Amino acid sequence: MTIHTGTGLQPFYSRYQSEQDYSRYQSEQDCMEALIAMKWPSGFVCPRCDHTGCSRLNSRRVPLFECGRCKHQTSALVGTIFEGTRVPLLKWFMALDLFLLPDGISAMRLSQVIEVTYKTAWLMLHKIRYAVGEFDARELLYGDVKVNSDQYGRNPSRVTVSHPHASAVVAGCTVTESGEPQQVRFRLVPQKRGSDTRAARRDLTAFISEHVDSHSSDVELFSQAFRLYAPLRNIVRETWKSLKSTYGALGQKHLQAYLNEFTARRQLHLSKPEKTMGQILLQKCMVIPRISYHQLIGHRPIQPLAAVA
Ligand SMILES: [Zn+2]
Repeated sequence: MTIHTGTGLQPFYSRYQSEQDYSRYQSEQDCMEALIAMKWPSGFVCPRCDHTGCSRLNSRRVPLFECGRCKHQTSALVGTIFEGTRVPLLKWFMALDLFLLPDGISAMRLSQVIEVTYKTAWLMLHKIRYAVGEFDARELLYGDVKVNSDQYGRNPSRVTVSHPHASAVVAGCTVTESGEPQQVRFRLVPQKRGSDTRAARRDLTAFISEHVDSHSSDVELFSQAFRLYAPLRNIVRETWKSLKSTYGALGQKHLQAYLNEFTARRQLHLSKPEKTMGQILLQKCMVIPRISYHQLIGHRPIQPLAAVA
């Protein structure tokens, strides 16, 4: 895998490359075989009829598998974020690797490193974000769960001054027996922006019904601004600093996706050594169907309040 030099990214890319497993993929073929192995770990299974016999057709860039019983043709990329992509898989694997950097990577820098257009880099990153967001949303928080009514984007050093660009957010986390926050989820309350607006109690209740397995959990709510669960409050601040350092000021339209990216990356960095974070990220990308550019930009933008427009 060659790395475009002169971008200033090579030193830190190399540092992380050695910790990742993507670097062992040297060709499109290597990447494709890795995806095929991940898609069908125990060998081909027809998605239509569950038959396991198939013929492999290698005449195209993406190998096709034809079911020996119903003749259905499929590929390892169907139903994944890579379906229909024209970007070489080696560039996708590098993008996934760079996505795992502690503060992620902006579309501008990614476009320079893997030598694609800005629009392509933007779309690739949003597809990865979408995959991790959708995947994580399927896993409910359970156990010892704390939920804060917080604000995203508030300058922590200016406690009493209102912030027109702050957004109300519900933050929830599980807590380990030793008192460490483990899995974290954020949900923006889109219509509440600016000043000291925070998530209301009903927003916290909505968060719990959507993201917490309340039957097997002990849930504690922190709805008062000056009595929040501090470790979780700190993670919201950390998120703001990290996203600000990589992306600058983020608009409301995709902010939820960036928050999902942060919490997913944080979780991946906590992953156990036997399964590298790169493999877990790739698995998430393999089970979530892609989102198209038009679906992404067609998502209804969240209208800012008149006071902050
Ligand atoms: Zn079949």
